[in-house]
Amino acid sequence: MSHVFPRHTKSQLPVAVGGEGCYLIDADGKRYLDCGDAAVSCLGHSNRAVIEAVQSQVEKIAFAHTGFMTSEPAEALADLLIDHAPGDLDRVYFVSGGSEATEAAIKLARQYFLEIGQPERRHVIARRQSYHGNTLGALSAGGNAWRRAQFAPMLIEMTHIAPCYEYAEKQDGESSHAYGQRVADELEAEILRLGPETVMAFMAEPVVGATLGAVPAVEGYFRRIREICDQYGVLLILDEVMCGMGRTGHLFACDHDGIAPDILCIAKGLGAGYQPIGAMLCTSRIYKAIQNGSGFFQHGHTYVGHPVATAAALAVLKELTSQQLPLRAEFMGQRLQSALETAFSEHPNVGDIRGRGLFRGIELVSDRAGKTPFDPALGLAGKIKKAALNAGLICYPMSGTRDGRSGDHILLAPPFIIDGAQ
Ligand code: PLP
Repeated sequence: MSHVFPRHTKSQLPVAVGGEGCYLIDADGKRYLDCGDAAVSCLGHSNRAVIEAVQSQVEKIAFAHTGFMTSEPAEALADLLIDHAPGDLDRVYFVSGGSEATEAAIKLARQYFLEIGQPERRHVIARRQSYHGNTLGALSAGGNAWRRAQFAPMLIEMTHIAPCYEYAEKQDGESSHAYGQRVADELEAEILRLGPETVMAFMAEPVVGATLGAVPAVEGYFRRIREICDQYGVLLILDEVMCGMGRTGHLFACDHDGIAPDILCIAKGLGAGYQPIGAMLCTSRIYKAIQNGSGFFQHGHTYVGHPVATAAALAVLKELTSQQLPLRAEFMGQRLQSALETAFSEHPNVGDIRGRGLFRGIELVSDRAGKTPFDPALGLAGKIKKAALNAGLICYPMSGTRDGRSGDHILLAPPFIIDGAQ
């Protein structure tokens, strides 16, 4: 009998014993094409450069607490990330994963306003149908009703505006651009409702992952969001934990939207699964407010900036940039989109096929014309996950309540090294 406490306590999971390129191998020798359990494995499972970087770093120094020392891989990784980062992002704070990154971003926003003498700024605005992680602060920002439900009494009060979800919410006769401006303007209305002097940050995923299934914003949406944040002095936090690190065809997903945030969160593809690591990037304006003020960021975990994790991420980033893998994600993503359209665009239960790069979503509906979701009681996602696993495919199906409307999608996020036949 196993003593591991799994997330799904009613199912028996295969034991992973090996990884080879895009495949995971279980104890019975069965191979599974990894099309993105959670969009982590961007380089596949047997990248030599990353494995050797991890081995060599453990030999040198496995751990040094960042309260006392920095480390060579952390310094080199921060430099390389900033070389490629959009806008004025200038400093990198390393954490162990995505929830820690968004949690730290919220606390950094709060501390920034304290340091510059605006203590009344305390509200975070995020979007419905979003996911920012499972720790209580990150869960408070997330707008997924199902994930929040049982913890609701413990969550921090944050408000949520509409996501940019063209397929389901654009009105008849409305252009994509007009739709994007209309939903972006909800941010301004919410800032005015709360009182601009009380709002500290707006948080959003450039391409919504787990909750909606690879839904990018329409053209112009994020430019309007950036304008509104600037107008009211509100910090823009972009959560690229799932969509970042090349997955959408750009190293940073927001490059596609032509804007840069004040704080950017990354994880998953940063360590590509070889080590648990995340990061929060911020502008020098924010960093200097703390440096010239209290001199201490009031947040930290034991494993921030872990030398082995940062060494792995440095090797991942070198692989991504030297082999132009984001470009490959863009190209292979278009092939995947065409293949999905050829196979499913006439399927009566496929409502939409969308995404960017190697980050694709298939929305499932019971009726195409009415875009009617399936009855949630069917538990479609669980059934698809099981059927896919039996067939040797790992993908990420989700059923969820979306503002009272249920919905199902399948997320596909394969490694960037995937080939056409696979
Ligand atoms: N933010 C987004 C957009 C995510 O998709 C996730 C995880 O799926 C997180 C944050 C949380 O990351 P982690 O699971 O590494 O804590």
